[in-house]
Amino acid sequence: LRRNPGEVEFHQAVREVFDSLGPVLKKNPHYADEAVLQRICEPERQIIFRVPWVDDEGTIRINRGFRVEYNSALGPYKGGLRFHPSVYLGIVKFLGFEQVFKNALTGMPIGGGKGGSDFDPRGRSDGEVMRFCQSFMTELYRHIGEYTDVPAGDIGVGGREIGYLFGQYKRITNRYESGVLTGKGLTWGGSLVRTEATGFGTVLFANEMMKTRGESFDGKRTVVSGSGNVATYAIDKAQQFGAHVVAFSDSSGYVLDEAGVDVGLLRQIKEVERGRVSEYVARRPGATLVSEGSIWDVPAEVALPCATQNELHEDHAVTLVKNGVKVVAEGANMPTTPKAVQLLQDANVLFAPGKAANAGGVATSALEMQQNASRDAWSFEHTEERLAEIMATIHHNCAATAEEYGQPGNYVVGANIAGFTKVADAVIALGVI
Ligand code: NDP
Repeated sequence: LRRNPGEVEFHQAVREVFDSLGPVLKKNPHYADEAVLQRICEPERQIIFRVPWVDDEGTIRINRGFRVEYNSALGPYKGGLRFHPSVYLGIVKFLGFEQVFKNALTGMPIGGGKGGSDFDPRGRSDGEVMRFCQSFMTELYRHIGEYTDVPAGDIGVGGREIGYLFGQYKRITNRYESGVLTGKGLTWGGSLVRTEATGFGTVLFANEMMKTRGESFDGKRTVVSGSGNVATYAIDKAQQFGAHVVAFSDSSGYVLDEAGVDVGLLRQIKEVERGRVSEYVARRPGATLVSEGSIWDVPAEVALPCATQNELHEDHAVTLVKNGVKVVAEGANMPTTPKAVQLLQDANVLFAPGKAANAGGVATSALEMQQNASRDAWSFEHTEERLAEIMATIHHNCAATAEEYGQPGNYVVGANIAGFTKVADAVIALGVI
């Protein structure tokens, strides 16, 4: 704590993993001798830089850029970039820390990293976003590469931003290095299913959990927080599985649509028009925007937090349980506070932590890297099949590890231990580096 003052989200993420590790350290005392925990807590490299850019009025703006190259024992650093005014080092480090274990769980050869900026893309013109991305990449390019560090999107960074970033990288380096970024457009090196992968993967993971109790999404009343990339495709896949999705949200409130969310309309507003959820309500008869209270007040059997960290608190968990929730799967990173997780688990709710349940995005990014390396492009069906296999394997490994360590059904423990042991063994094998 003293070493990383004020980085509260980072402390929370580390504590959450360490809380699961007691039995592993007892079984493998050499992890302590080799100082694995200390090494895993310290990122390999942390880069902080100035991002100057000019807005549409001609005013010079200064933002702060970050890239935390966390751990590369398993492969090149891999993880998204977040553009949101709340971004500071503690957020980037928590996300990077989580990413290391998540990437290990995918079984793909990728290390963990994360980056971003306190730039707020909301209300900015295309030109402003482009100039910001170009300036950001003018520093970032010297730190990344196909074999070094491969960024992708996260909150505030979608296909448009990846395009501007890739364009500037290509221009500065004079290299068409497709494997340097993932989440690219389909005509310039992107992979089918990458856009859908995180949301689809979260639902696939939740579906695997439900199977262990002989249940499915079919007919289940479902709420999904957020209305961005992850939320949209979680809604889409849940509906494909027969769920009745009745609510989603953004930072202005939540939308209640008892008739079932029209995902086509949501995509049109969010992806094409870059609008807010209030526009959905204006065009969808029967839907209402609720600005008071919380989306977790809406009774549901399945809850999928897909917006941001610490959005589902203890009191929300109490309400969800009271209303009969059976499954909570995290599409976002660390959206559920530790006390809320405990409450849900104590109430026998199936709970999937983000580092397992939202790993489908980065796994499909690794599939994009594979396609780039072989100069190939796979079909949607093939890629989605690979995603489904990966999510089923992650589920199996988490469940089996939880069982092995005497906590059957505890996916938090299963994910933390399975991810940690893989990284720890690689860290030790590579020597004191
Ligand atoms: P988007 O930017 O596409 O969407 C984010 C959504 O969350 C928006 O609806 C946004 O609402 C809402 N939101 C963001 N911050 C806040 C906040 N502080 N308070 C309330 N609502 C907020 O991001 P993604 O869908 O890509 O990411 C969502 C989550 O999923 C994040 O935790 C991310 O780290 C995680 N994730 C994403 C992956 C990906 O592939 N994209 C992969 C793995 C995890 P508003 O517009 O009003 O801010």
